[in-house]
Amino acid sequence: MKKLPNITILDEKDKRLREKSKNISFPLPKEDVKRIHDMMDYLEMSQIEESREKYDLRAGMGLAYIQLGIPKRIFVVVEEVEEGKFERHIVINPKIKSTSEELVYISEGEGCLSINRPTCGIVPRHARMTLEAYDEYGTLYQIRVREELAVAFQHEIDHLDGILFTDKIDKKNPYKGKDIYRAI
Ligand code: ZN
Repeated sequence: MKKLPNITILDEKDKRLREKSKNISFPLPKEDVKRIHDMMDYLEMSQIEESREKYDLRAGMGLAYIQLGIPKRIFVVVEEVEEGKFERHIVINPKIKSTSEELVYISEGEGCLSINRPTCGIVPRHARMTLEAYDEYGTLYQIRVREELAVAFQHEIDHLDGILFTDKIDKKNPYKGKDIYRAI
């Protein structure tokens, strides 16, 4: 088993999470390239039962730079596409090109590595989205995401704008829209 990367994730009480992150320019300093890979290693380990238990982690799929207190428009998403096989996404200076009209929500509710308390309610998200972003070497690419991956991307883009998923849950009626949007 790999060693757990040394990453400290801010809790929601930390005001830095409310900052709007700024676009970055290339080339990225080496330490950022390393940090990006550390973040993805951390997420992957949080999704593998053995390392999750050993290091007492909560499973997470995405992590934005601002969750480490750094206001740069960078996030990573690690998705388990089949048992033990992970797909990694590095997303820098993302720009949304199009979104589906159809909205979905995660039926058991979203989670966030910065929110360390039980939450209830649903967050409507676009079911599909196309965006443009740069990788860690400054190469522009386009990606189309759907379903759970699309939700993860929208959750992380919100972090870049200082928004937490709990902000998007209707206070009076946390399950508002449950019968209108599609549960995934
Ligand atoms: Zn989050």
